[in-house]
Amino acid sequence: MIDQAVIHPIKEGKFRFTCHNGLPCFTKCCANLNLVLTPYDVLRLKNRLNLSSQTFLDRYTTSFVDEKYGVPVVKLKMNNDETRQCPFVKPEGCVVYEDRPGACRLYPLGQAASMFHGGHQADEYYFIVKEPYCLGLNEEQEWTVPEWLTNQGLDKYNTMNQFFMDITAGRPSKIIKRLNDRQLRMYYMACYCLDDFRNFVFETSFLDKFDIAQDVLNRIKTDETELMAFACQWLKFSLFGEKTFQLAVTELG
Ligand code: SF4
Ligand code: SF4
Repeated sequence: MIDQAVIHPIKEGKFRFTCHNGLPCFTKCCANLNLVLTPYDVLRLKNRLNLSSQTFLDRYTTSFVDEKYGVPVVKLKMNNDETRQCPFVKPEGCVVYEDRPGACRLYPLGQAASMFHGGHQADEYYFIVKEPYCLGLNEEQEWTVPEWLTNQGLDKYNTMNQFFMDITAGRPSKIIKRLNDRQLRMYYMACYCLDDFRNFVFETSFLDKFDIAQDVLNRIKTDETELMAFACQWLKFSLFGEKTFQLAVTELG
């Protein structure tokens, strides 16, 4: 949650910002964060660190079922010492920079629509987060929001996050809050623990039960972003009964 006092509108569609290691505030922003990770953030980071999904989740995250939205949320654990720094910040900067989470890329912007909001994207708009310690906001370079999103490589993140948001989009919270423990575990596995989800698809009787086209199988075997999109479709079917999957036709003898 962002402190309301630091939220400011973007005036005339532009804002000023540059971040670089010559500023006295360099890396000050990478501590004491309430950093929610999306499934795509987890995918990028676990691959960057060459870890399995489960090892990454165990080592670097905490998770809980969010009371408001009723689904599991994953957060990056800050270091458990007085600095409360992000585990990936070093004096020279972010050591996972090319695969840093979407929220780190978006800063100093914030997005009004929550990840789990009822899917009404029309409400979505951007604002500036003016943290008092951030000197990058005094720099000269000007950006529009689209320029910033492109510069920070957020297009791919937004595409992947949309698959994830579509799972719960438009569903009344009372329906989501009805999910039982087994369904919540499935949600967590399919969204965040992609290696386990792959095993679930390819190492169980899953493919005997569902009719999955060969080209889809080929794609999800070789491309983890395709597997993640597939996992989101699976959750719509298995948790909410959407007709995103077809049962396999078994021959009667
Ligand atoms: S300019 Fe802002 S974002 Fe960049 S290092 Fe300083 S505090 Fe962090
Ligand atoms: S992931 Fe990188 S950019 Fe994000 S808080 Fe950690 S060190 Fe900073």
